[in-house]
Amino acid sequence: MNAILDRLLENGEYTDFLEHLLSTRSVLYNLEPVGIGTPYVESLTSYISRLAFTHNVTVSSLLKGTVVPMADKKYLKNNLSEGVFGSTPKYINGNSQVSQDYVKVFEILTGRNDICYLTMVSWTDIFSQNIIGNYRKWCPVCLNKMIFESKEVYEPLIWYLADINKCDVHDTLLEDKCPNCKRRLDFMYSNFTAGHCPYCSTWLGDCKSKKEPLNEEEKFIHVNYQQLIKMAPSLLSFPTKNSSSIILRRIMEMLGFDSISKFAKFLEVDSSGLSMWMSNKHIPSRKSLLQIVKKLDITIYEYFYKESLNIKKNAVKTVDIQGENKIKSKEEIEYILKKEIKSEVSKSIYQISREYNFNYMTAKKHFPELCKIITGNYSSYKKEQIKKKQVDIENKLIDAFKKVIPISLSEFSKVYGVPVATAKRYAPELCKQLVDRYKSYVAEQKRERIEKNITEIKDIAIALHRKGVYPSIKRIQKEISDPNIFIKGVYRDKWREIIESLGY
Ligand SMILES: [Zn+2]
Ligand SMILES: [Zn+2]
Repeated sequence: MNAILDRLLENGEYTDFLEHLLSTRSVLYNLEPVGIGTPYVESLTSYISRLAFTHNVTVSSLLKGTVVPMADKKYLKNNLSEGVFGSTPKYINGNSQVSQDYVKVFEILTGRNDICYLTMVSWTDIFSQNIIGNYRKWCPVCLNKMIFESKEVYEPLIWYLADINKCDVHDTLLEDKCPNCKRRLDFMYSNFTAGHCPYCSTWLGDCKSKKEPLNEEEKFIHVNYQQLIKMAPSLLSFPTKNSSSIILRRIMEMLGFDSISKFAKFLEVDSSGLSMWMSNKHIPSRKSLLQIVKKLDITIYEYFYKESLNIKKNAVKTVDIQGENKIKSKEEIEYILKKEIKSEVSKSIYQISREYNFNYMTAKKHFPELCKIITGNYSSYKKEQIKKKQVDIENKLIDAFKKVIPISLSEFSKVYGVPVATAKRYAPELCKQLVDRYKSYVAEQKRERIEKNITEIKDIAIALHRKGVYPSIKRIQKEISDPNIFIKGVYRDKWREIIESLGY
């Protein structure tokens, strides 16, 4: 995912437009999101609906007018200009590429840098799948309370998480169907208004709801997600895809397990799975991550951020984490970025963040200027590389033209070590010429061969005729160099012409 975003940013096409917007004032009101730094922070889709309301337009007009012109991604342009959102809404508040796209656009449009905390993007690298459920969920009592206390009506991010099904403030089940039209609701509609059903406009709040207290398991899940949501704005850096492998190896050592299978038994997880996570081939699923932290009697947040974990253990060996494995500090990241700018080899932010093990969102957040320089350098480096490659391929093609016997494109590919698709991409015109040259050569060869065969048939037929032998196909086949040629109609036709001319 990150690679795609990075590539997008690095091609520099729409960043120019964004830079322009940034240099002017914000396009939309700098509306304050509700509850940043609390577990009940507003979701991005709820924020977008309030933003539209503040501008006195519908969500779809807001998106059409502001997002569409700056969206270079086809899906964003198509979905938003039609007011049809397809399958994207459930990703907007989550930890995916879609969330990153939306966050970026809305941070620029509002001139705010905290929109990312209305989604789970900060935690992109610790969850393997989208963390948002398939439909909107809400606590009717919470909604009613907002109205009665004359507060902003908004829908918290926590309600939308797939693993959350109850409101821990009111001990009630979250609703996921409109009480009036009974339909399940998506996260985004052209007329989306927080707290309302988009189909029948029914208010989704209610003053009473059946008590459904959270069990221990549910309480544990709530604590974990709430902590992640609450802590995100105060953190300087976020875990990366390989954080879990480092942490698990450290914990295994701290707890003194001498084999992965014993450690897996202790954590009550599958041992082949654990081995994959520890060797950084996969990251644990949501369920497994919760299982691990539960077993260790900590939270997901503590798992990633507390190096001196207070893990229940018998004999603890304190193991120093090697410098390169630690979560990088802001200063370290700044140092790395500056060093890379001076370096002769140009790399993308994404490559740098992978190499030094930091989350590139962290870098972009704190050092936008440095990142901009790196992105610019990398973009010109890539353009240069592309130009070089093009010249190289063109030279090879020109050389191929010098061959007396024309060669096909696939032969060219073998001889010069350039994949056909690459050659076509970099030098389409020359490739076409090479193909055409080869085609006419092949056609010419074929014509000559036919000519030669016909002459042979004719010569044999005449010789037989002179000996007084009827030159049948069978008879000719006995003497001709390739007896199989009569399979082809063209030679049978010619034979008929020849024997007719001989008077048969
Ligand atoms: Zn509630
Ligand atoms: Zn309804």
